[in-house]
Amino acid sequence: MAAFDWRKRFTPFLNFLYNNNQEAWANVLTEQLIHRFEINPHGDMDRWQTALEALPAASGTSVDLTHSAVTIASAAPLSEPEAEKLELGLRGLMPWRKGPFDFFGTYIDTEWRSDWKWDRVAPHLADLNGRTILDVGCGSGYHCWRMAGAGAKRVLGIDPGLLFMFQFLAVKGYLGDVPVDLIPIRMEDLPDNLELFDTTFSMGVLYHRRSPIDHLLDLKGTLRSGGELVLETLVVEGPEGYSLVPEDRYGQMRNVWFLPSCPTLLRWLDRAGFKQPRVVDISNTTTDEQRRTDWMRYNSLADFLDPENPSKTIEGYPGPKRATIIAEKP
Ligand code: SAH
Repeated sequence: MAAFDWRKRFTPFLNFLYNNNQEAWANVLTEQLIHRFEINPHGDMDRWQTALEALPAASGTSVDLTHSAVTIASAAPLSEPEAEKLELGLRGLMPWRKGPFDFFGTYIDTEWRSDWKWDRVAPHLADLNGRTILDVGCGSGYHCWRMAGAGAKRVLGIDPGLLFMFQFLAVKGYLGDVPVDLIPIRMEDLPDNLELFDTTFSMGVLYHRRSPIDHLLDLKGTLRSGGELVLETLVVEGPEGYSLVPEDRYGQMRNVWFLPSCPTLLRWLDRAGFKQPRVVDISNTTTDEQRRTDWMRYNSLADFLDPENPSKTIEGYPGPKRATIIAEKP
């Protein structure tokens, strides 16, 4: 099998950087991608690449990025061999966690109803029309597609998870040359103080960071003056100053550090130098929003809650509650 054609895939984005006075970033990124794809490739890369390449090249495709499922359709129904290739390719990219998607009538019921999060967040955003957007920890890029559907000029998603990138490419392959990219890097791999983006999203990431205020400062550095931060993270009830640091796991998740109360989180944003931070939504995460499906067959939220008292996690902590906060960079 030919090696993954990462240079070809990322050339349009690297060109965007070269054309926008970001040569230094383009050079660093190229080194990171060489490392990721050539020097130290993931053990499952070949399998995922095979799955991606199995997807049929349907003709006359159209996409809908404005409704619950990110949908790809073709003018004519798929032939039987094409349908078989589609099933093979999509199954080969399991588990599907963030979505939903619809590929030619095959509905990918993902573990998460990521569209519900989008519906909670979208009404509070500054108009995305014409904006250049960064989505930190974007997962499969589901929300990146919805941002493009809302008129964004360019969207960059970053997420270290490589399977997510292949799922993203499964969609992108049917869209042609669109200014939406997913790059498999971490927040820490971005240059400091890019001051490039009009809106930066960080959804579901802050509680994975050991130094949450540093994460906020890093996010601020990505924004131009006047740009908007959209932060979504797990919170708990409690007074200003309080935040929960789990003893070990939280809802079976490793790597969970700080779950602040909303007043604490607002204080962190103040101290990080954001203007007018405000909580625009608080929602409990339910087992309707996060659950095992035919496309994600491992344990899910129901297995991570106390069976006797589903308002608590299996470790006895308050069950998952998420807040969305919007703030501006001065
Ligand atoms: N933003 C999506 C996905 C949240 S899941 C949503 O809200 O639905 C959290 C994601 O953050 C995971 O996909 C994980 O790979 C990613 N992540 C974890 N640490 C990260 C880091 N340091 N930088 C960027 N992304 C990170």
